[in-house]
Amino acid sequence: MIKNYIYTLLNRIKIEKKYNIALNNLINYLRDSKFLNDDNVESAFRNIPRHEFVQTSELDRAYSNEPLSIMKNQTISQPGVVSRMTEWLDIKDGQKILEIGTGSAWQTAILSYLVGTGTVYSIERHSELVKFAKENLEKFSLNNTHVILGDGSLGYPQASPFDRIMITAACQEIPLPLLEQLADNGLIIAPVGDSSQSLVLLKKTPKGIIEIKSQSHYIFVPLLGKFGKKN
Ligand code: SAH
Repeated sequence: MIKNYIYTLLNRIKIEKKYNIALNNLINYLRDSKFLNDDNVESAFRNIPRHEFVQTSELDRAYSNEPLSIMKNQTISQPGVVSRMTEWLDIKDGQKILEIGTGSAWQTAILSYLVGTGTVYSIERHSELVKFAKENLEKFSLNNTHVILGDGSLGYPQASPFDRIMITAACQEIPLPLLEQLADNGLIIAPVGDSSQSLVLLKKTPKGIIEIKSQSHYIFVPLLGKFGKKN
């Protein structure tokens, strides 16, 4: 009995150590390649471990810089893409954030960690993924996150306006309802394009929507729904 307990405990310590080394290697790689520059985002990566959001079959690759498959043919985004999108979105404590495409909820949890006293609303169209996301989030005491089943291309008008909006699926164009639900001076980030997308960061200003920056060569699964790609 005690022998079993000690064995399990030692095994767990071994596994945690293995993940820690892999996480440090990933962070060093992302820092060197300039995908990760912000200490707060690094702290989010350390406090919201990716291995808690991947499927058991993918655990060995939890800290490689690649997207991994989750359910329903969807993917948990690549760490470098998550750090870049999070940094560009410039999250501040207390903000209200809308995320479209919850998937595993790893990105959701990172936003939740960074927004502190603020709130994150995240919308996912697959009920299986909503369940998966909620189970993953329950492992952390993040009580500022709402995962909602629905069509994110319509946004979430009942909680708008949002200081920040992040779309984690490829848009042919940014859905109009999301631009409408962005607060004044708010930022929205999305991959825009067909087979390959540009990551685009836009700001709502008194003069209208302006592009802050963009960068090509990203690949995301498509945003579906009323204002998304037609399937
Ligand atoms: N941020 C997630 C990425 C998941 S992939 C992660 O890192 O785990 C993109 C997700 O967007 C998929 O789960 C897909 O089901 C979802 N999605 C696509 N179109 C959607 C829509 N119109 N509304 C809500 N979710 C959508």
